[in-house]
Amino acid sequence: MPSVLTSLRRQAKALHRNLRGAKMAARALASTDHPLLAHIIPMRRCNLACTYCNEFDDFSKPVPIEEMYRRIDKLGALGTSVVTISGGEPLMHSELDDVIRRIRANGMIAGLITNGYLLVAERIQRLNRAGLEWLQISIDNVNPDEVSKKSLKVLDKKLQLLAEHADFHVNINSVVGGGITHPQDALVIGKRAVELGFTSTVGIIHDGSGQLQPLTEEERRIYHEMQALEKGSFTRVNAFQDNIAQGLPNDWRCRAGARYLYICENGLVHYCSQQRGYPGVPLATYTRDDLRREYVTEKSCAPHCTVSCVHQVSIFDSWRAPQHSAPPVPAAVPADALVQITER
Ligand code: SF4
Ligand code: SF4
Repeated sequence: MPSVLTSLRRQAKALHRNLRGAKMAARALASTDHPLLAHIIPMRRCNLACTYCNEFDDFSKPVPIEEMYRRIDKLGALGTSVVTISGGEPLMHSELDDVIRRIRANGMIAGLITNGYLLVAERIQRLNRAGLEWLQISIDNVNPDEVSKKSLKVLDKKLQLLAEHADFHVNINSVVGGGITHPQDALVIGKRAVELGFTSTVGIIHDGSGQLQPLTEEERRIYHEMQALEKGSFTRVNAFQDNIAQGLPNDWRCRAGARYLYICENGLVHYCSQQRGYPGVPLATYTRDDLRREYVTEKSCAPHCTVSCVHQVSIFDSWRAPQHSAPPVPAAVPADALVQITER
């Protein structure tokens, strides 16, 4: 249980975060010329090796802090609202707290996606002091297996530490689909998250190209039960996920490259984690013209895309600016240096 002081601090920070979020939402509606969300990768290396994952390695070095500062300042200059630090495992970056501080110094909301393995009480308190505003852990199963070790059994102690010490918002994401052996685990994980005072979301695991894997009947039932737990979650986009669960395409305009940016460890802008290589332009030279071009560029992968965070930010513009296919943009690095993910 958190102390009274921690609870009060948490409530004050939630109020502040929600007010800033509301202001950012109003700005998103008023102007289409800035990114709403960027994922930034300070380190590709991970301490785990989930078999469905195409976003990690076991050798790469952390991006030097001065380079991270340059990238964050550029995102700030582009007017980005929210920066999510992702990986690999970002907690392996020794200067992660400074990355968070720099995001906040630029007036952006700072979030973190982690597998949680490296969290201890002192580390959580450092994240508080750095100004982290929200954190997400994705838990794949109750007991570790050959697919994933992101398991409730291993991580429950970490969740208890978060419940006790974190000033920031915590969301626990569980998953169905993608070869996860026991889909009913998602419910156990979601209920535990709510019990500890966190929000809970459910995601549908995409295949290696970010595309749809239709759910079985059992998975669909669990998915709908999970939705009932999601009340109050700010990461909820049910209509989009509902169609995915039913194996139906979504009719939407993906604003990746404009409203959403994925910045890889090499500092290149990509559409998303599942479409790396496009546009493949260094963030350092990314301009408003790039944002405007990608805003109206149709993404052929959109109908069966499962990347829900991009769908979320694209909702702000669903009613405006129809898209069209555009000629390929010359990449600033050789095409063979880029990664187009096609399979896991
Ligand atoms: S913990 Fe996350 S980044 Fe690491 S291998 Fe698993 S899914 Fe990939
Ligand atoms: S539709 Fe957009 S978010 Fe989805 S895979 Fe394609 S580029 Fe990525």
